[in-house]
Amino acid sequence: MSDPIFSIRTRARDSLARTGTLRLAHGSVQTPAFVPLATRGAVKTLEPRDVEALGYEMVLGNTFHLHLSPGHEQIAAYGGLGSFMRWERPIITDSGGFQVFSMGHGSVADEIKGRNRGAGAERGSNGSNGSNGAIVAITEEGVRFRSYIDGSLRFMAPETSMEVQAGLHSDIALVFDECTPFHVTRDYTARSTQRTHRWLERCLDWHERHGPADQVVYGIVQGGVEQDLRLESAQTVAASRCGGIAIGGSLGQDKPQMHEVVGWTTAALERSAPQRPRHLLGIGDIDDLLAGVAQGIDTFDCAMPTRLARHGVAIIPDPANRWRVDLAKSRWRGSQEPILDGCPCPACSAGFTRGYIHYAAKAGETTGPRLLTLHNLSFIARLMADLRAAIDAHRLAEVVAAFNAGAAPGTLSL
Ligand SMILES: [Zn+2]
Repeated sequence: MSDPIFSIRTRARDSLARTGTLRLAHGSVQTPAFVPLATRGAVKTLEPRDVEALGYEMVLGNTFHLHLSPGHEQIAAYGGLGSFMRWERPIITDSGGFQVFSMGHGSVADEIKGRNRGAGAERGSNGSNGSNGAIVAITEEGVRFRSYIDGSLRFMAPETSMEVQAGLHSDIALVFDECTPFHVTRDYTARSTQRTHRWLERCLDWHERHGPADQVVYGIVQGGVEQDLRLESAQTVAASRCGGIAIGGSLGQDKPQMHEVVGWTTAALERSAPQRPRHLLGIGDIDDLLAGVAQGIDTFDCAMPTRLARHGVAIIPDPANRWRVDLAKSRWRGSQEPILDGCPCPACSAGFTRGYIHYAAKAGETTGPRLLTLHNLSFIARLMADLRAAIDAHRLAEVVAAFNAGAAPGTLSL
């Protein structure tokens, strides 16, 4: 089977890294790429033209939240999510499975990202429901849950998710899956993964009959942290009719385990579906991007850069501090230091200081989060551009080592 939506330009000789181009209904995406979140139909604090000017070619919308409000029928009446939110480039929508299951399983998000306890749920899950029993029942047919908006009883089946995503008319739709958490038994993970495979077929069947012809469907590899289940899931998804493959679910209890699970999965996909694009769901810390690109991930989405910005945290080339500086801390009061010296982003190039960002955070001025969102997303866009250039030049290992030693994006000669 040919895979015309994705063409690979360069394959690294010493890793699974590759550069390529995704050709989608609303345009092209150069990969490897980071995909900012437009969870509820907006990249928080930015306009679409800001996101585009930073160099981004795709954003991610959230099926679950947009299904509950304003509803896919309303968005479909505008011609789809892109027309509704005035973003004329590609959109990927997640299936809603993650949000549905994170309500029932508690802090799934933190577990997925290799943290035991962290700063709340990622990937736009509502973050407030926790394990309050919002899921009423998980059956073969689908999931019954209570809306966090009005408490009404809702039902989401694989077909429902595909129908919502058809209404949103995203370029890439994800199949509905059960996002299995880390703390469940191996037996539960095995049974859940099998059900996710049956749901994959139902999603593809529905999409073939009713879905937009120009929408690509990605399957999702589950299997928790069990190597044999991950491999079996990778093979099953690769053998399906899906146009691309996402990696989801619990990836372990810490970063080394997460990178190991991703490594098993991409190695298996390299054997069974080497030409199909791969998306890593909900992961995007700087070290994860550096590791994931070398492991053959083509696209990433994560709340990190935009969420940190709203908490006063700037991304800087400081690996010892997880590439972060917290400008809400009192030590930055009155600081004349730039956010990041030499950074060409709209905030830094306009001369905004750490002291001003600190003040804006304390004063509740929304300009502060906006400036940091521009800075953080600019940092990651330039990092990804450097990684693409490094792969094409067969210098990825050297460039990753430089970033891990504190190099700033855009400062290496590539
Ligand atoms: Zn900047």
